[in-house]
Amino acid sequence: ASTAEGAQKPKKKHSSYVEVNCENEKTFYAKHVICTIPLGVLKEHVSNLFEPKLPRYKTEAVERLLFGAVDKIFLEYERPFLNPEVTEIMLLWESATTPEDIASSWYKKIYSFTKVTETLLLGWVSGKEAEHMETLSMEVVAATCTNILRKFLNDPFVPEPIKCVCSSWKKQHYTKGSYTAIAVGASQSDIESLAQPLFRNVHDKKPVLLFAGEHTHSSFYSTVHGAYLSGQTAARRLLAPEEPPENILECPGSADLNSWIQGIQLEG
Ligand SMILES: Cc1cc2nc3c(=O)[nH]c(=O)nc-3n(C[C@H](O)[C@H](O)[C@H](O)COP(=O)(O)OP(=O)(O)OC[C@H]3O[C@@H](n4cnc5c(N)ncnc54)[C@H](O)[C@@H]3O)c2cc1C
Repeated sequence: ASTAEGAQKPKKKHSSYVEVNCENEKTFYAKHVICTIPLGVLKEHVSNLFEPKLPRYKTEAVERLLFGAVDKIFLEYERPFLNPEVTEIMLLWESATTPEDIASSWYKKIYSFTKVTETLLLGWVSGKEAEHMETLSMEVVAATCTNILRKFLNDPFVPEPIKCVCSSWKKQHYTKGSYTAIAVGASQSDIESLAQPLFRNVHDKKPVLLFAGEHTHSSFYSTVHGAYLSGQTAARRLLAPEEPPENILECPGSADLNSWIQGIQLEG
């Protein structure tokens, strides 16, 4: 947020300030706010986070887009047990002939175990199965992974890990998921709707509420660079002079990450 100069609260509270109320009961006043609250949190709380409420085209876009779970499972071992040439163990299960209960089949969604070091494996799991994993204890996840490794390596002596740590992005209060995806029925224009800044009055030159974060970049949603670029765009919009100069010269050969990333050709 671009806060009122020099003080947390402006000397004279003015209707043109945005009020930001924090959980620790602090209040900030700002002329402009850049909101980077993740899509997962917006999905759960959009109806009571903003006063006045966000316009309907935004809340509908929030509903349509997907903010699923992708989680990591780290398994640490006392000593190396895999052939040094093995870098990754990819898992492929036969399709179930009858519908399976997620509680008894979630582990089939673990795509692979990557060797991070000789004594550290990283498993990847996503979707509803990842959400289910987040409800389990580390001991249960570790035992399940050990069974999988013993089965796929055809080796009953695969050791148990000394430590198992899993992420829980869906469960976390301040993320409520991992990253944005375009769900069936949603489109890139929903992301553009999320990115639209809001003006207090139609004649205002600068928006009062801007949005940034990976969920607002129409090409690079779901990525760190999408989040970075969207924040940069929002900040530049606020910092730009109110009347843009007539000739804007592009500076060629800039080493800036922005121009490097913008140069990436996207397929299609
Ligand atoms: C397992 C996994 C692997 C990934 N791999 C890659 C990869 O290889 N490459 C890549 O580019 N990207 C990857 N990503 C995605 C990338 O991490 C995210 O897209 C990026 O971090 C999003 O940045 P952000 O600033 O939009 O959101 P965040 O970094 O989530 O920042 C949002 C902030 O808002 C805060 N917040 C939440 N709720 C509130 C609230 N109500 N009020 C105030 N503040 C709030 C949060 O605490 C947080 O600090 C991965 C993500 C996951 C989960």
